[in-house]
Amino acid sequence: MEEKKNSPPHGLLKQNNMILRFLMVLLSSCVINRNYLCSTHPMVTPTVSPHSGSSNITASLEALRLDGHLSFDNMHHAAKDFGNRHHFLPSAVLHPKSVSDISSTIKHIFEMGTTTGLTVAARGHGHSLEGQAQAYHGVVINMESLQAPDMYFHIGELPYVDASGGELWINLLHESVKHGLTPKSWTDYLHLTVGGTLSNAGISGQAFRHGPQINNVYQLEVVTGTGEVVTCSEKKNADLFYGVLGGLGQFGIITRARISLEPAPMMVKWIRVLYTDFFLFSKDQEHLISSKNSFDYIEGFVIINRTGLLNNWRSSFNPKDPVQASQFNSEGRTLFCLEIAKYFNPEETNFMTQKVDSLLSELSYIKSTLLLSEVSYVEFLDRVHVSELKLREMGLWEVPHPWLNLLIPKSRIHDFANEVFGNILTDTSTGPILIYPVDKSKWNNRTSMVTPEEDVFYLVAFLSSAMPFSKGTDGLEHILNQNKRILDFCKSANLGMKQYLPHYITREDWKTHFGTQWEVFVMRKSTYDPLAILAPGQRIFQKARRSFSDIGLQNNQHNIQSSKGR
Ligand code: FAD
Repeated sequence: MEEKKNSPPHGLLKQNNMILRFLMVLLSSCVINRNYLCSTHPMVTPTVSPHSGSSNITASLEALRLDGHLSFDNMHHAAKDFGNRHHFLPSAVLHPKSVSDISSTIKHIFEMGTTTGLTVAARGHGHSLEGQAQAYHGVVINMESLQAPDMYFHIGELPYVDASGGELWINLLHESVKHGLTPKSWTDYLHLTVGGTLSNAGISGQAFRHGPQINNVYQLEVVTGTGEVVTCSEKKNADLFYGVLGGLGQFGIITRARISLEPAPMMVKWIRVLYTDFFLFSKDQEHLISSKNSFDYIEGFVIINRTGLLNNWRSSFNPKDPVQASQFNSEGRTLFCLEIAKYFNPEETNFMTQKVDSLLSELSYIKSTLLLSEVSYVEFLDRVHVSELKLREMGLWEVPHPWLNLLIPKSRIHDFANEVFGNILTDTSTGPILIYPVDKSKWNNRTSMVTPEEDVFYLVAFLSSAMPFSKGTDGLEHILNQNKRILDFCKSANLGMKQYLPHYITREDWKTHFGTQWEVFVMRKSTYDPLAILAPGQRIFQKARRSFSDIGLQNNQHNIQSSKGR
């Protein structure tokens, strides 16, 4: 298969594995605290085509009058994502230049009805993990082509920016700071699109205060599954607005979003401290997210059995007490790192330092492990990209990423930590494990995003990279087994866990995931995408398919029924 043809020779892979192990240690220690590593894996492709008569379909798509264009060749890019485990080739890729390109294409497919299984997937930056932005034999819309109109900044009491759904958050950041402004809520990595993260949630260290990105949107322009272009907000078409936010792309394609802004700081005080005791670590995290004048960013991660941890971090962080820090031994230990940041402008340095000292004095971390750094606001937010560039340079960005993102209720986080960090995992060498609490009482609960029932819950993200062809603990099979053990434990211990960036195969599992929100979700689907054309890669709904012969048969049966009734 295509992937195998392009696979590197075995010796090179072995060498790459060694380099990758080295990088894992290096990267987790430097400015970038995330190893979003990765590779190649055989395609998983369905064998049954969702529609016949594909030449007719191609011809009918070709006949559409568009500002942009459709391509029917070289579409492998649209059959790839960051997860690198699912590869579904589409029939066509739309490169839209206007919203009307998207609308006409969907309208055309909608009007074809159920005679074709043709579906449509918006593809943001393709950073999904399980093929969610792919459409097997369908049409993939390359949202990044949709640039026009330019970003529009409203500067006033409630500043905002209007941006394309295909815009990358990193571009939004660069443009916003030119106006002295910034979005409030982020993801850890900014080379993701506005529409892609708003279809999920967009969670990072600012979410405890501002909620996820979906809480910081005033208005959306959406193309529904019938091709209708609708503007929606809290006041106008609210059902669609809240449905689309966190709606996994099921109800419409976000073509434009109005995102709320605040004044941008220039600098960031970036801090790491370590704990050996999970109880103290989580107690401090929960204390910080509930304090009024807290840090501006609160996250955390787990490190199991890492050698020379603090020394490795010294290239980017300065220990408060270098002598003590150099004597700290991380080997063989399970450590919890609290990562926090305070934003400031240069003229506020003294005030910021006092505030940080006062906040730190309330915490119970191991004093010798206090590490500090000062970086620009943009550098801080774009921290993961540095790691990406290094890995790309070494050809190690495109490996499989069997990631698992879970939301665990606060009342069960200790049960979870005991089992997972005490039993299931023996080290964290395949990638970082993030763990931090958020408080959803400040979030808008009308969106489609599903969360645990308690107000405070933890995001726990296992961000593993699998080494191609490895049968060891860094291989795909081992990591997938580990993920399964974690999921099985959550289920058997009845933790009330919800998946973030959820991935299920059966309808029953989706129903369980949505719980009491399932009926609303289904109702919205039938209202805004009645033929189930949109985002087939999420595998929640399947487009009904009737061939012409089925229709003929049905008509015959209808005639028989009718004649019987006469
Ligand atoms: P895609 O993968 O292209 O699409 C995702 C889904 O949304 C698909 O179903 C697609 O069809 C649909 N979609 C795409 N564009 C639109 C649109 N305009 N309208 C409607 N539907 C659309 N997430 C977090 O919350 N926090 C993080 O800190 C975080 N860090 C990450 C770091 C890395 C390195 C990576 C790879 C991912 C991270 N993510 C994080 C996950 C990320 O938010 C999701 O993978 C997101 O879907 C990626 O955005 P994308 O633009 O690449 O979307």
